[in-house]
Amino acid sequence: MVEATADRAALDRDFMRQALAFGARGQGTTWPNPCVGALVTQDTADGPVIVARGHTQPGGRPHGEANAFDRAGPNAAAGGTLYVTLEPCSHRTIRAATPCVERTILAGVRRVVAAMADPNASGLAAYPVDTYGAIIDLRYVNTGSLDVAGLDASAAWKTTVKGDPLALNASLSWLTRYERKLTPTSAKTPLAGQAGYPADLRARITASWTHGPALVTTSVNHVGDLATESGRRIAPWTTVDLQGRWRGEVLAARNLTLTLNVQNLFDQDPPFYDNPLAIGYDPANADPLGRMISLQLTKTW
Ligand SMILES: [Zn+2]
Repeated sequence: MVEATADRAALDRDFMRQALAFGARGQGTTWPNPCVGALVTQDTADGPVIVARGHTQPGGRPHGEANAFDRAGPNAAAGGTLYVTLEPCSHRTIRAATPCVERTILAGVRRVVAAMADPNASGLAAYPVDTYGAIIDLRYVNTGSLDVAGLDASAAWKTTVKGDPLALNASLSWLTRYERKLTPTSAKTPLAGQAGYPADLRARITASWTHGPALVTTSVNHVGDLATESGRRIAPWTTVDLQGRWRGEVLAARNLTLTLNVQNLFDQDPPFYDNPLAIGYDPANADPLGRMISLQLTKTW
């Protein structure tokens, strides 16, 4: 087993050198893809040994990693380390080949060492090189941790307007810390207010006004601005909901309740986000549904 990190780093460099040399075998034949080399090692009592090698095949496919897994056969790579000269691809192409990241996970690789990030990544840094090992590690043992702190505040106020009750409620959720560590030794990643993670500010104000059998409720929802991986800003989002309810009697039918619900009354679009998933908004914090109106009639006996 390799214990010391200095030894591990030296071994990593050595195996990467071999992967680069192996990848060079495809030089000039792999267009339109780069000539990637890949090795899989397994730790043994005498140190790591190479159990599989691959390089990008003529015409660009299979990719280097896929070639190594194909040649290694089932289970040979499980628990091992993948050395690859270029960040494994994570996007599906028209040819629908399984991306190398998925192949890597399916092969059960425990650690990935990549020489460089993919400059052609259509994933737009969706999976930076240093996350692979950790993501794959999590499938074996969850060493990740999440540190969350914040402040929730709510206030309620009741009054009457011309003899009719009016209730006001306000709530605010302010996330001061949302930090993730993928492994006990990895650096903390602050994610509060980052696209794809909980917004650091959420607020909602609700007013309910009752007049006889009628109840009207309106709410204003606010999601604070968010930051993206590339440092851009996603605009805040404010929407209004409206609910009207009436309870009573029509002809001989008693105990009728009619409810009108309007979500996102002004049909506010979610703020634009140049999402790596190419969907144009942040699904963690916004909803593209738009205005939704529902009418409900309930009868109780
Ligand atoms: Zn690939």
